[in-house]
Amino acid sequence: SSNGSGEKERTLGIIKPDGVSGNYTDRIRKVILESGFHINKEMIIQLDEDNAADFYAEHSSKSFFTSLIKYMTSGPVLVMILEKEDAVAHWRHLIGPTDAGKAKITHPQSIRAMCGVDLEKNCVHGSDSHQSAQREIAFFFKETPPGDLMWDFVQWMT
Ligand code: ADP
Ligand code: MG
Repeated sequence: SSNGSGEKERTLGIIKPDGVSGNYTDRIRKVILESGFHINKEMIIQLDEDNAADFYAEHSSKSFFTSLIKYMTSGPVLVMILEKEDAVAHWRHLIGPTDAGKAKITHPQSIRAMCGVDLEKNCVHGSDSHQSAQREIAFFFKETPPGDLMWDFVQWMT
């Protein structure tokens, strides 16, 4: 939690298709571990359009939604549960602003500056609140997976 008690908090990180295909996985994992996170669980998964639309339901009315779904289904993603004190805020800080093009100027040390391209292709996801993190972790990692998540593609690692 973020209540200063020293308890661990969990957040959801995703390396998006451009991050995976651009071979940024090892560099991003290195930043994560050097920043004091524990990678609690991770899996590689190919999202289908329904999965991606469910995950980004809050953006369903936005003009960029169709393009976002196409982007997120363009190849496999690496989904991770990241754990440390204040994990949500710390991970959002590490990834940097949504617009990776601007991040290269204003936040050059951020992960999005390292591997992202623009406002859409920003190579990583981070939950925006503790509540979002809980929902997003359950979306990918609950015991009974959503009906059509493609578990044949899933690789579990400890
Ligand atoms: P964040 O991922 O930083 O929380 P949002 O939740 O606002 O950003 O948006 C979700 C994702 O949708 C972004 O990471 C990005 O890939 C894409 N996106 C956001 N805004 C735009 C936009 N104006 N045009 C194109 N894609 C966008
Ligand atoms: Mg968001």
